[in-house]
Amino acid sequence: MPIDPTAPYDPDNIFARILRGEIPCKKVYEDEYALAFHDINPQAPLHVLVIPKGPYVSWEDFSAQASDADIVGFVRAVGQVARDAGLVEPGYRLLANVGQHGHQEVAHLHVHIFGGRQFGAMLPR
Ligand code: 5GP
Repeated sequence: MPIDPTAPYDPDNIFARILRGEIPCKKVYEDEYALAFHDINPQAPLHVLVIPKGPYVSWEDFSAQASDADIVGFVRAVGQVARDAGLVEPGYRLLANVGQHGHQEVAHLHVHIFGGRQFGAMLPR
């Protein structure tokens, strides 16, 4: 069920619980700004989620409310995860779903990194 990207942050959302260590994840990267882990239901040979450590529902409030340091730190972390996974030379895809039309299901900002195969056209037509 898609979430409302304008709703207040829910501290009990699943990714908040992963950040607090209440739910396990297959971690691939962590720094001061971000945590990256394998998606539980991978849709590509490599499917990693990168989430900011701050309480942001979606790209909407992150881009509007986060500090410059948090934005820089998060964007650099996404690039680092892709680099560490060896995805730069073959290429990869980033995706951030937002709200109803974007079909965002977890109410904590996450960027999907997909890699390991040729993806073809950007969206189904
Ligand atoms: P969205 O549709 O919100 O962009 O994507 C949410 C993603 O989170 C989905 O790809 C889903 O498989 C993943 N996901 C949902 N719950 C969990 C979980 O508990 N652990 C992990 N690792 N991924 C999850």
